[in-house]
Amino acid sequence: MSILIENVSKKFGKQIALSKINLEIPTGNLVALLGPSGSGKSTLLRMLAGFETPESGRIWLFGKNATFFPIQQRQIGFVFQDYALFPKMTIFENIGFGLKIQKKAVDAQVHELLQLTQLENLSNFYPHQLSGGQKQRVAFARALAVEPKILLLDEPFGALDVKVRKNLRIWLRNLHEKIPVTSILITHDIREAMEIADEIVLFQNGYVEQVGCPQEIYEHPATVFVQNFIGHSVVPSNTSDKQISFLPYGRK
Ligand code: ADP
Ligand code: MG
Repeated sequence: MSILIENVSKKFGKQIALSKINLEIPTGNLVALLGPSGSGKSTLLRMLAGFETPESGRIWLFGKNATFFPIQQRQIGFVFQDYALFPKMTIFENIGFGLKIQKKAVDAQVHELLQLTQLENLSNFYPHQLSGGQKQRVAFARALAVEPKILLLDEPFGALDVKVRKNLRIWLRNLHEKIPVTSILITHDIREAMEIADEIVLFQNGYVEQVGCPQEIYEHPATVFVQNFIGHSVVPSNTSDKQISFLPYGRK
């Protein structure tokens, strides 16, 4: 078990962001956190990364109580919606930034990451010379450079147009298959979650409404809220769409 979230709650002033969350995320899974804006998804991710601490409850990472572990001790990579690249560094330098090993090892590892993220030809470019999709792949490569055991992705494709998004989500699923990592992806795009996640966690108002594989969520929504959430955004308008809306990768 990679991640065990036990009874975690968090308030900001009077605002309840998370209310007694219990969640298990098995090693190697790609899990999507889905739900409306303000439902607590980012707060939970930031807590896993160590940017926030829970008010109550515990977070276990690989069997250790990591609730108050500092960020560096968590072996986590984080990718944000806005890329957050260093503008004055080349792509190569951006990717190598977090590596605190010898020069030679850095070079070898960055080359490997450039290859993995299909950016070999862009290593001497600067971020402003890249498209949004390319920049986000650099952000992924930079997050992976420190060999994280857990990859946290907060709406990584939110700023990209629909076509790029669609390609990148398949690319992400393939990347996840290639490396030994547990990934958590925040999205408000139900179709994205359905297509690439092993498991979906549906949030509302700081609560977990339902956890299940995409097919379970789609076929057996546990509450009216889930039914509406799925229904409004995903009910396909034709049969072929319906057939592809079940992920090619999910657990049976
Ligand atoms: P989501 O990512 O699902 O959109 P968030 O986790 O960002 O939701 O937010 C959950 C709730 O907590 C919201 O009501 C939000 O306004 C509040 N919140 C999040 N971060 C802060 C903060 N740093 N200060 C005050 N309120 C916050
Ligand atoms: Mg958010």
